[in-house]
Amino acid sequence: MLQEVHVGHKSLADYQSMVVGSLVDEIRELAKELEGARVLHVNATSFGGGVAEILYTLVPLMRDVGLETDWRVIMAAQEFYEGTKLTHNSLQGDSVTLDQAQRDIYETHNRIAAESLGSGYDFIVIHDPQPLLIRNYAGDLGAKWIWRCHIDTSTPNQDTADYLLPYVQQYDTAIFSMEQYVFRGLDIPLRIFVPAIDPLSTKNMALSPEDAEYVVSQFGIEGDYPLMLQISRFDPWKDPLGVIDAYRLVKQDYPDLRLALVGSMATDDPEGWSFFTHTVEHAGEDSDILILSNLNNVGNLEVNAFQARADIIVQKSTREGFGLTVSEALWKAKPTVGGNVGGIPVQIINGKTGFLVESVEQCADRCRWILDNPEDAKVMGRTGKEHVRANFLTPRLLRDYLKLFNDLRG
Ligand code: UDP
Repeated sequence: MLQEVHVGHKSLADYQSMVVGSLVDEIRELAKELEGARVLHVNATSFGGGVAEILYTLVPLMRDVGLETDWRVIMAAQEFYEGTKLTHNSLQGDSVTLDQAQRDIYETHNRIAAESLGSGYDFIVIHDPQPLLIRNYAGDLGAKWIWRCHIDTSTPNQDTADYLLPYVQQYDTAIFSMEQYVFRGLDIPLRIFVPAIDPLSTKNMALSPEDAEYVVSQFGIEGDYPLMLQISRFDPWKDPLGVIDAYRLVKQDYPDLRLALVGSMATDDPEGWSFFTHTVEHAGEDSDILILSNLNNVGNLEVNAFQARADIIVQKSTREGFGLTVSEALWKAKPTVGGNVGGIPVQIINGKTGFLVESVEQCADRCRWILDNPEDAKVMGRTGKEHVRANFLTPRLLRDYLKLFNDLRG
């Protein structure tokens, strides 16, 4: 089944002063050709994770420039999400793959979703593997079909990739975040789009230091001790256990250091709870480690405040499709330490906007450097913010989609 997601209103004009060059004019020009076109985005969740984050801004902006845009999420039984999380892990390189019973569940829910798709769309954008098979069951419907893959598929489990490949082949275009993610053997037109963040959302809008302190004080972060932060779903690929280990090393030199791990529970991620428990166990009795989730009322404003208050932001992933949290951190002008994987190196220019790391020890070293060199760290933070402004704000992503739609129309 597919369920409509309701989004608020956004206006492209409000972004004019935030972006560089003539991007807004370029978008308006591209949108003229597409006036009234009908667009549908389909993904697996309206809450938690990067795809929902992107669509909450992209959908209203597409509407604002004249495209009739809908967003729907696939609603299915828990067993479906267990299988799709396994597919996700498998595409990111895990040795697990779907067995026949799990394939049946996956196929059945996609077939049911396809039945409620409706018609009359010019462009249908299917995000990630969960709803990938809808194209197969819905048929062509007179639309241009686009598969947008957000995950790191550079070293997939080949059985899983081989199973999915014929379904991807049915699309008019596939979009990946990086060249190296393109499935081996895929033979359809391709695009590379890096994701983007919304500078005007409550998560990224400017907060004064006083407001940020007030918000984080409600979670017990009071006083001017150094704060290390990672914002991420509780997922092994995000390596929160490695972050705790790195924090422990830095704490040897900075005994008053605190660590905050903030991670929402996405509705399509059944692994989240068990890994959350695992993370809490790893933190042990250390009262300087704060572990929070959306269940503690940490919403977008609180994420913003934690990022604004933090002295060091970490994204120590071992696999990462893109890592919106990195752009979010850089946008707050924070030097950011990230795993040297996936989309992180396009955001963190090593030594300029933050540091890329490959181990717990390296992560700790770089965090220590940031605390040891506050003035240099500030310059780094400002460089990071401009890097995001030039490359990773939503109007640029909107431009990429409009170009693609125009090209597909010929
Ligand atoms: N996020 C959040 N609250 C949390 C944890 C994550 O709002 O407690 C958001 C985070 O700010 C980012 C998104 O979820 O916007 C995660 O996107 P990312 O691309 O970093 O990773 P994904 O979860 O898609 O793998």
